[in-house]
Amino acid sequence: MNWSLSIGTIGGTSIRLHWSFLLFLLWIGRALWTQGGPGAALGGVAFFALLFACVVLHEFGHILAARRFGVRTPEILLLPIGGVSRLERIPEPPREELLIALAGPAVSLSIGLALVLALGGLPAFDEALSEPGAALAARLAWANLFLGAFNLIPAFPMDGGRVLRALLATRLGYARSTRIAAGAGQLVALLFGVAGLMTGNVVLMLIAPFVYVAAGSEAGVAQLRSATLGLVVADVAMTDLERLPADAPVSAAADALIRTDQRDFPAVDGQGRLRGVLTRDGIVKALRRGGPDALVNEAMQAGVPALSPRHGAEVAVRLLQQGAPAVAVEDADGGFVGLVTWDNLLEHMLVARAWGLSEDRTPRAEGRVPLTARHGGGRARA
Ligand code: ZN
Repeated sequence: MNWSLSIGTIGGTSIRLHWSFLLFLLWIGRALWTQGGPGAALGGVAFFALLFACVVLHEFGHILAARRFGVRTPEILLLPIGGVSRLERIPEPPREELLIALAGPAVSLSIGLALVLALGGLPAFDEALSEPGAALAARLAWANLFLGAFNLIPAFPMDGGRVLRALLATRLGYARSTRIAAGAGQLVALLFGVAGLMTGNVVLMLIAPFVYVAAGSEAGVAQLRSATLGLVVADVAMTDLERLPADAPVSAAADALIRTDQRDFPAVDGQGRLRGVLTRDGIVKALRRGGPDALVNEAMQAGVPALSPRHGAEVAVRLLQQGAPAVAVEDADGGFVGLVTWDNLLEHMLVARAWGLSEDRTPRAEGRVPLTARHGGGRARA
């Protein structure tokens, strides 16, 4: 998630470039330079600058469709296979997700068709048109048609995966539909990989592992989302925690690390307020650098976001996804109550799955029948 570079903000949406996009541009630029000299490299750069603009337009297709349904998009990430819009939330009704997913490819296909009309017909893919402007337009037409068609492949992480999930979700439920679309994504990735190896196509070889991992993580996030829907932070937080005084030496933290099976330690001040979180890695690093006399408040991670026990658990998941080391739970007076971490969310998911509560219900239905009701309220209520 942090392997990217921000290049600007349009209408409240920050546009970020993934490192692999930059790598791809460099690779193309270098290849063109060695093949055709600086002129070819310059033409290539102009083409990719315009293609890049088309990818942004594709993403704004998704963003504007999402805005119609009241969903904001804080960020888009540009990858060699297209862009990923980080919607603030995925809309619950499948019909809305379907329309948002289709809006991007619709923009790409429209740009492609408009260029084809302007050129008076679809030029052959590698036709050397005498006029450089027309050649550029022809390549852009092809690229946009490809971008639209590629993204309609019914598999995660392509837009078509979302279309497939939305179409299946009305009948099979959200979790199962996501698994099917993610499984299709991993299958497509394997096919890309095999095709790349057989034809020596570097782009396919680069894309294959990315598609595989992205499809898997989509399934993971969907499972987590499914397991936490309808829950509040108090339902998923760890409250039975060993706390460390912020002014204690790190040796005390090392002691607690060995004594307990806890990995993240809340550091609190004299009034019981959270000052930061000391992780296992943080303890080891502090011992190595400053020895046992280093202080907890020098080694801890400060600025841990805090939520009230009544916040939706989804908010905590989102904060962790954005890179927070942990999410603190605080009572109305700012007193520390508990922590939410990836580890304990995973445990929660395992429990929820074992109880068969997270499977195959649409988010809307899960919202109506919160898991909390079946927990008997005995868990971690602050
Ligand atoms: Zn898209």
